Amino acid sequence: MVKRYRTLSVLLVIITCLLVGSFYLYSTDKIGKIYIQNTQKSIYNLKKDFLKDTVNNQIARIDEIRADKTKIYQAQVQQIELMLQTIENMQPNEFMQMYRKYFEQENNRAVWSAALWETETGRVVYDPQNILAGTSPAEAAELILADFSAYRFSPYGKYQAFFGVKKSYVDAQVKKMIADEIHNSKFAEESYIWVNEVVNYEGGRNYAIRRIHPNLPETEGMKLSTDMTDIKGNLAYRAELEGIKKFGECFNTYYFKKMNSDVISEKLTYAKLYKDYDWIVAMGIHLDDMNGYINKTNEESRKLAVDLVKILILQLFIILGVSFGLMALLERGLFRKSKKKLEEEINLDLLTKAFSRRAGDRDLHRRWDYYNETGISPAIVYFDIDNFKNINDKYGHDVGDAVLINTVQAVKGAVRTSDKLYRWGGDEFVLVCDGINSENAMGLCDKILREVNALDYQAQGEHVATTISIGVAFFQESDRDYTDALKRADTAVYRSKSNGRNQANIEI
Ligand code: GH3
Ligand code: MG
Repeated sequence: MVKRYRTLSVLLVIITCLLVGSFYLYSTDKIGKIYIQNTQKSIYNLKKDFLKDTVNNQIARIDEIRADKTKIYQAQVQQIELMLQTIENMQPNEFMQMYRKYFEQENNRAVWSAALWETETGRVVYDPQNILAGTSPAEAAELILADFSAYRFSPYGKYQAFFGVKKSYVDAQVKKMIADEIHNSKFAEESYIWVNEVVNYEGGRNYAIRRIHPNLPETEGMKLSTDMTDIKGNLAYRAELEGIKKFGECFNTYYFKKMNSDVISEKLTYAKLYKDYDWIVAMGIHLDDMNGYINKTNEESRKLAVDLVKILILQLFIILGVSFGLMALLERGLFRKSKKKLEEEINLDLLTKAFSRRAGDRDLHRRWDYYNETGISPAIVYFDIDNFKNINDKYGHDVGDAVLINTVQAVKGAVRTSDKLYRWGGDEFVLVCDGINSENAMGLCDKILREVNALDYQAQGEHVATTISIGVAFFQESDRDYTDALKRADTAVYRSKSNGRNQANIEI
């Protein structure tokens, strides 16, 4: 029974721990997932911002380099003008020769465009690049200016001169510088910037040319088509071109080869149009690089959750174990207490609160054994209430009960607390006393008789006289068991009755 109870308790503890543990694990897992989702989202947004900022910075760099270059050429224009002013007063023919010679120098020929014509007649005397293109210089001026980054119209003697640096020349230099810059740039997670030049905004085959591409430099100059797909069939170039046409910029995802690797994986990209050059400047990051970080975070938080659950289960196990242990201890104490009470109740006579005959029987058994070991016998004091039937008849059963109770009280009052009083049946009692022998037994009996006689119980306005007759006996060697001594005590009681009651006799 106890074993079953214990197994049940342990099982209950384990089930509770498992239930709480799995609930906790489920909750932390859920929280973990939300956390990962948020982390993923914020990393994603951070990366988006990073891509956008980097591309915008690169575009700002193009403008910056263009402005710098223009400034440099504008300064050179001024220097050339100063130089021409020093030869302005030469013979016109000589001036023309010098002018031509200067702009045909090895270093200047590629950079500068120059023309010279007679102010009055408009006759063109020098225009090797045919910038005036047959029109009159005055008409050409408007058209020319839009193509030049730095220039000067100036009269020198009878001539009008024009010289300047074409925008296309400056831009070619800027593009070269930007390409070098992008090739030399290093970004985290193998990111890089690339540039495609749009040739046809309507899309289709050869809609663009790959201009700068640090990942695949050998493909620079390659024609691109909006019909090109990645390994998953995404029309990435088409989507990009649509976004660019609509918003001037766009985010896009598709599959592409990783830098310095043959792995093809999903890539988040940002692209923006630099209209002056028809350049789509773009940058991307592979999502699995991001996932690496997210997985690491995931793993760490999962490990933490599992550790927490382990600690929780251990704590629960200890708490539940200790409480079950305490409960068992408490229960055992309570069980002992109630058992003792139950035993006492079994051993007590309900009416008189003297011990029961059953307890007396056991006690006398024990004492008989002790006598056999030691030869020491207690005094067995047997007594019976005198004429009890009469009391019952005269005053009623309740008064009889009260007399029984009072007699027990009186006898208990006359003896030591270590002496045991048993109700043997009806109005008969057995008192077992230690330390009493045949010599001093009569003294004890007299005391008992006195106490009982002294009872002053009133019923129906009368004193209910109560007396008892006592018989004393001791164990003897010839006895077969304790009942022989009891019988002798009974005989002694009989003698007391016969001799007039309210007295004690001893039967040796
Ligand atoms: P004696 O002096 O010879 O002993 O005469 P007696 O009248 O006492 O005779 P006996 O001992 O034979 O009578 C015992 C009576 O006790 C009989 C019974 O009705 C009564 N009795 C037994 N148990 C109880 C009890 O619990 N309550 C009451 N009121 N009476 C009881
Ligand atoms: Mg009697």
